[in-house]
Amino acid sequence: MLYEFMVRTKDRFQIIDITDNVQRAVYRSKVKHGIAVVFTRHTTTGLMINEYERGLLEDIEARMKELIPCDSDYLHNRIDNNAHAHLRASLLLNPEVVVPIDQAELQLGTWQRILFVELDGPRERNVYVMICPCPEFPEE
Ligand code: ZN
Repeated sequence: MLYEFMVRTKDRFQIIDITDNVQRAVYRSKVKHGIAVVFTRHTTTGLMINEYERGLLEDIEARMKELIPCDSDYLHNRIDNNAHAHLRASLLLNPEVVVPIDQAELQLGTWQRILFVELDGPRERNVYVMICPCPEFPEE
């Protein structure tokens, strides 16, 4: 079952907690055991699983900007102005995360949240969630 939701970002760089959107998709699917594949369909966004804590979010942003600064002599900037965003997405993040589902609940650790990372906002972004039942636990 494939679900889609929109993330409307407000800043150039922004980290958004999308855990509740994904859990809603799991409930809607009525799947009790399986996996949720979360996928962002954009080359200048990424996903990660980590703690949603203000200080940590600022640390992540600062380190990403330090590792891959906005202003460098990037070739992609000959045709666009966002090479840094593509590089951060491809080198530091993934377009997908996978989370196990048990008893219709995402099996995240206590401090784990599913985080959407905007690297070239503000924009409207689309996130897909594919809910796949586990064959060892066939649904009724
Ligand atoms: Zn580009």
